[in-house]
Amino acid sequence: MMKRVKIKEIFSNPKLNTTYVVKGWIRTHRSIKDVHFLSLNDGSTINNLQIVINEKEFSKDLIRNLTTGAAVGIEGLLVESIGKEQSVELLAKRIEIYGLCDSKEYPLQKKGHSLEFLRTIAHLRLRTNTFGAIMRIRHTVSFAIHFFFNQKGFYYMHTPIITASDCEGAGQMFRVTTLDLKNIPYTKDGEVDFSQDFFGKETKLTVSGQLEGELGALALGEIYTFGPTFRAENSNTPRHLAEFWMIEPEMAFYDINDNMDLAEEFIKFIIKYTLDNNYDDLKFLNDKYDNELISRLYNVLSTNFERITYTKAIEILLNSNEKFEFPVFWGTDLQTEHERFIVEKYFNKPVFITDYPKEIKPFYMKLNDDGKTVRAVDLIFPKIGEIIGGSQREDDYNKLLQRIKEMNIPMKDVWWYLETRKFGSVPHSGFGLGLERLLLFITGMSNIRDVIPFPRTPKNAEF
Ligand code: ATP
Ligand code: MN
Repeated sequence: MMKRVKIKEIFSNPKLNTTYVVKGWIRTHRSIKDVHFLSLNDGSTINNLQIVINEKEFSKDLIRNLTTGAAVGIEGLLVESIGKEQSVELLAKRIEIYGLCDSKEYPLQKKGHSLEFLRTIAHLRLRTNTFGAIMRIRHTVSFAIHFFFNQKGFYYMHTPIITASDCEGAGQMFRVTTLDLKNIPYTKDGEVDFSQDFFGKETKLTVSGQLEGELGALALGEIYTFGPTFRAENSNTPRHLAEFWMIEPEMAFYDINDNMDLAEEFIKFIIKYTLDNNYDDLKFLNDKYDNELISRLYNVLSTNFERITYTKAIEILLNSNEKFEFPVFWGTDLQTEHERFIVEKYFNKPVFITDYPKEIKPFYMKLNDDGKTVRAVDLIFPKIGEIIGGSQREDDYNKLLQRIKEMNIPMKDVWWYLETRKFGSVPHSGFGLGLERLLLFITGMSNIRDVIPFPRTPKNAEF
C-alpha cells in the first residue's frame, strides 16, 4: 500500500478523485443491500471517515471480518458523498486487515457506556469518542503550556521526583526505598536504619518541585516545572489524584500582583489555544456532557478575574445568609463549600483570594506587615474549586529563619533553601497549577479520574 494519510489531514484538505490510504479502527459497520459502510477512526480527529465497500469486489470472508474494533488499512478513492452526514467518503479499492476484533468479547460494541464502567476498561476506553477527545485536549493543553512559557522567555526546569525533604508541607508522601520489607534493618534505638537504604537516607516521592524551582528562578530569572507530583492523602474525591501533573512557574522580581497577572494571562492563553485547536473535540464534549461548556470557556476569556483578600472573603461569607456545614470565622481554612459560594454565587467568575492567615499556610510564604497574614494566593474556579495555589516567597533571611524555627522544620532539610536568602536574595513569586484540575474545567468532565489516561487513586493502580 501507499503511504498512510491521517484522517484529520484528509478532512482539512480533501482532494477529490485522489487515491488515499487510511489506517485505523472500525467504529461501526452497516450495510444496505450489497453496499457496506464503515466508519473509520484513526485517533487523529474525533471525526470518522466513511468507507464505502462494494460487496462484489471483495471476498465474503474479508467483509465478515470487518467488525467493530478491528484494525484495518484501506486504499480507496476520495469522492463527494451523497449522504448528508459527511461531505466526502472513500470508495475502497484494497482492504488489509491488521487485527481482527472478536465482536462477542469486545466491550465497546454498544454506545452509551457509563464513565464508571469505562474506568474499569481504561486500556480500551481511549478508543471511545469521549476519551479520544479528552486525550487530544490534554495533549494540546500540555503543548500550549510549554509554548506559553517558552515565548515569554521562561526556562523549563526538571526538578527531582525523588526527594529527601518532606518539608514542602503540601501533603502526605509516598516512601521510596530499596530496603527489604521482610528484613528491615534497625538502629540501636529501634528506628529504621535508612543509612542502609539506597540513598543513605529516608527518601520520598515529591509533592512539589517548588523549592528547587526557586533555586532556578534565583539564577535564571524565570523558570517553570511541569512534571508528575505525588500525594498519599487518602482523599477519595472527584478532584484528587495520588499522582497528578503540576505546572510550577517561579519568577525572580515578581511580587504577588505580578504573580496573579501571570496566572490569569496563562490560563486565558491555554483556554484560547485549546478553543483554536480542538474545537471539534470541545464541541463533542459540549453536546454530550455539558451544554454550557463552550460558552463557559469563552466567558473566562472575556472576564477579569476577581481579586479579594482572605479577610474580605470571610466578611462576604459572614454577611451571606447561607447555611454552611463548616463554621466561618477569621483564621479558619476556607472549605470547598465556602469557596464555591464566593465563586459561583457571589462573583460568578474566577476569584483570586490573597493574604491568608500565616497559621494555615506553609513556612515559605512572605509575611505581611500586619505580622498575621502571608502573601499567599489561591485561584478558585467555578465548578472546580482551587485550581492554583501560590504566593510571594519570603525573601528576608531572618523572617524565613524565624518561620522555620516556629514550625519546627529540621535545618538539615532546608539549609540550602535558606542560604539563597543570604546570597543575593530577591523578591520572587510562583504558583502551582494542577494540570488535571485545569483539564476538568476545559473538558467539562466532573471526575478527575476521567482527564488522565490511567488514574492513581487510593486502592487503585490498575493498568
Ligand atoms: P486542595 O486544597 O484542593 O487539596 P492543595 O492546597 O493541597 O489542594 P497545593 O498544594 O496548593 O494544593 O497544590 C497546587 C495545585 O495542585 C492545586 O491548586 C491543585 O490544582 C493541584 N492539586 C493539589 N492536590 C491535588 C491532587 N491530589 N490531585 C490533583 N490535583 C491536585
Ligand atoms: Mn493550595
